[in-house]
Amino acid sequence: MISTAIIAEDSKSLQDLLLHHLEALGVREILCCDNGEDALLAIKGNPSHWECVITDLHMPVMDGLELLEALGNDNYRGGVIIASSLEDRVVQMAVDIALSHKVHLVGSLAKPIDAIELTRLLQKSREIKGFVPLEVKYLKQRELLDSISNNRILPYYQPKVDNRNGQLIGMEVLCRLDCPEEHQVISPDRFIPVAEKFNLIDLLTRQLLEQSLKDYKRLCQSLGCEPKLAFNISPLQLHNPKFPTAMGDICDRAGIDRGKVIFEVTERQIMSERKQLITLDRLRIHGFGLSLDDFGTGFTNIRQLREFPFTEVKVDRCLIKNISKDRVSQVILRALSSIAQEFNMALVAEGIEELSDYQYIAENFHLIAQGFLISRPKSIDEIIRWHHAWLKTHPIEATEESD
Ligand code: C2E
Ligand code: CA
Ligand code: CA
Repeated sequence: MISTAIIAEDSKSLQDLLLHHLEALGVREILCCDNGEDALLAIKGNPSHWECVITDLHMPVMDGLELLEALGNDNYRGGVIIASSLEDRVVQMAVDIALSHKVHLVGSLAKPIDAIELTRLLQKSREIKGFVPLEVKYLKQRELLDSISNNRILPYYQPKVDNRNGQLIGMEVLCRLDCPEEHQVISPDRFIPVAEKFNLIDLLTRQLLEQSLKDYKRLCQSLGCEPKLAFNISPLQLHNPKFPTAMGDICDRAGIDRGKVIFEVTERQIMSERKQLITLDRLRIHGFGLSLDDFGTGFTNIRQLREFPFTEVKVDRCLIKNISKDRVSQVILRALSSIAQEFNMALVAEGIEELSDYQYIAENFHLIAQGFLISRPKSIDEIIRWHHAWLKTHPIEATEESD
């Protein structure tokens, strides 16, 4: 659960009720304000301290939508919940503000307040990355260097499928380390920050790319199709002007068309430096696809999408989880879907875990789906087996056909 929250609500009885709920849920520090301006002042004093703001819509001095906008202008990084039943028109307005002012609108909470829904929204607010306190056992620099020099980098593949017909469109290549001393392969949260810190990230990307391109022909033969492969890169790597050429050379040596390779860049770190933008452009010029990753957790203003050369946008799982019931996420996905169409970008919904969410998305959107419901990331052999099984019997297509 989150540990700090601000309530902006002019009705004393509703303030008390929210306070009571938050205390019962274990939120340790709660500040109550009678209007948006007081809440804004408190946040300005210590923005990174407050994980979530719950605001009424109608308040004196500064109302909820104004507060939402002001928080966006101040680059507030926590979640915002509107405690009010919203008509569709207001949801649309709130989402427009959230998308154009880069603020994390988590959802709306109808009155009377439902404790279960409040818990869900607070949880969603917590999942906005960066606020999740991580207790991670990082690899030491030496251990990482050993793994890289001993070729222990393993590509794990997670499928991306067309949500209307189940066809395999591409795969995200996620990095794992094989470590003989540990039971399981090591996940990237334990070593990517280390690679970034000690300047090993380019080496790591290069090995991962080489490794999976080496497997690519066998993969295509076994799958009977030529999926695009998507690799994650850190925004740091965009500072290196040689990066596009280095990646291009690896593809050429492997005899793989660059159009089959996509680089995913997370939007969590704002890419503002000219040098980074130039590298993005050059990756496109070199023929690679470019994907804006984790949309919804970071601060890319929706209009900025126009200025970047992305060919794809990936909606983060915090917006996808529970979308079948969450009106705010539904409106955000709709807005993104039309922007993606307008800019001719592919749209990916990632982190799909629930069949109800998959079905809601399939009924309302045509996009590329990725998530544990379809398949977890797997080694090359496992993914080939998964694809055989998927072609024969995947229940999702059966559900769609029975509609
Ligand atoms: P990401 O790029 O957002 O990748 C998606 C992550 O979400 C993966 O975690 C994947 O296993 C997980 N995921 C996929 N579907 C679901 C789902 O339905 N539910 C849930 N709960 N999770 C799902 P993974 O493999 O642990 O990777 C974590 C992050 O590490 C990646 O997040 C990416 O930012 C980073 N990463 C992975 N490989 C590389 C790499 O080669 N280079 C760099 N720079 N970063 C990498
Ligand atoms: Ca990614
Ligand atoms: Ca992602």
